[in-house]
Amino acid sequence: MYRKTLTAILAAGLALSSGIPAEAGNHASNEQSDHALDNKVIKKIDSENMYQHIEVLSQQPREAGTDGEWQGVQYIKEQFESFGYKTEIQPFEFNKGFKRGTPSIILNGNDFAGDVHTFTGSINAEVEAPLVYVGLASEGEVGDEVAGKIALIERGEISFYDKIQNVLDKGAAGVIMFNREGTTGNQFGGIYEGQDIPAVAVTREAGLELVDRLATEEVIATVSVEGASYIKGTSHNVIAKKKPHPNKDNGQIVMVGAHHDSVSVGPGANDDASGVAAVLELARVMANTPTDTELRFATYGAEEKGLVGSYDYAYSLSDEEVQNIVGHFQLDMVGSRDAGELIMFTPNGEKNLVTDYGAAAGARVSETVPYGQLGRSDHVPFYERGIPAALFIHAPLEPWYHGPEDTIDKISKEKLQDVGEIVGAAVYQIARPDTPALEHANVAPGTVEYDFDDRPL
Ligand SMILES: [Zn+2]
Repeated sequence: MYRKTLTAILAAGLALSSGIPAEAGNHASNEQSDHALDNKVIKKIDSENMYQHIEVLSQQPREAGTDGEWQGVQYIKEQFESFGYKTEIQPFEFNKGFKRGTPSIILNGNDFAGDVHTFTGSINAEVEAPLVYVGLASEGEVGDEVAGKIALIERGEISFYDKIQNVLDKGAAGVIMFNREGTTGNQFGGIYEGQDIPAVAVTREAGLELVDRLATEEVIATVSVEGASYIKGTSHNVIAKKKPHPNKDNGQIVMVGAHHDSVSVGPGANDDASGVAAVLELARVMANTPTDTELRFATYGAEEKGLVGSYDYAYSLSDEEVQNIVGHFQLDMVGSRDAGELIMFTPNGEKNLVTDYGAAAGARVSETVPYGQLGRSDHVPFYERGIPAALFIHAPLEPWYHGPEDTIDKISKEKLQDVGEIVGAAVYQIARPDTPALEHANVAPGTVEYDFDDRPL
């Protein structure tokens, strides 16, 4: 589970519709056989196996780009291969850190004497232009007079992203930001990919002095950032595939994913060794189960660095593959004894094919699963590409989230078993050979009513 909210991504607001017709077959008369069919898969799911995977994976943190992650990656690959899957480790780069280079400010020809820091993500550039104060840089505060000028901004209230975007939208050439009320230093801010502007930070005191000065005279500022750059790290995705029987291949693909990296400070037993363990157990159970649909199991790296692995993978898919992937089930934090109940989150808060199948499988296995709205995990890039995708997670989250106490002693085998069975039953319903294509859902178990739940994390 990734901490930063993805406002920009959600703002895109792609609309996905539910994939299952409202009247999908005769549920009552099929009920007996539905359970028998589910049982082909769910009777084989064993939370002891999942627990053992978590035990191995959570011996150390698995922060992206570290040896801990690499050992986890190799373990996952070995497991997939031992079940008979064609397995690939796919490397990709991510931003591991930022070298701040040399920032400087000149005001009306004189070097600025105070501390200057480069914003994370700032471009290297030197711009000279009049300085203009835009308050907190909310949309209403930033006017057309910012065009071509350097914006002096106070930190606070709205995100760095929004502040920078608001002045960029009006054509600002550079940014000087001063710290928020109650502070003495000049903590670094960050700007996002695509926000191509030199941006530096000064202390609150220095910023307020500039505000006063602008009230009495025009200030021509030069903002310069030199030698700044991202420090790149390498992380990996692990992708395991099983083709259906060639005579039964309907051309469709179903995906189940989790993220194998953890934060640096904790061993990530629940976040997300639990999801990886469920992916591995489902892969084991499905390995010898005949299907008419390709099964694709994935564990992603650098989720905690901003969903980097899943973005890399989702955007490496061809348009044809995207068309063929009927659903992506994301399992993140699915085993904590101290978290709430299971819920399925979609980035836009709408139902889709994955939530329809998940809710129905829940009703057959234990309880109908509600859905809600949340990004912040690896279902987001698949959603962005138009693939029905949902995050399966227990909410509210446990207090051990992203800390050193996220250890195996807090893992509930009952929760692992329940999630494994629900997702297993849903995936098998899509993949089993007697549902030749999803539009023939009249031979599959019927849909169920399930509710939106505005549950906090
Ligand atoms: Zn997390």
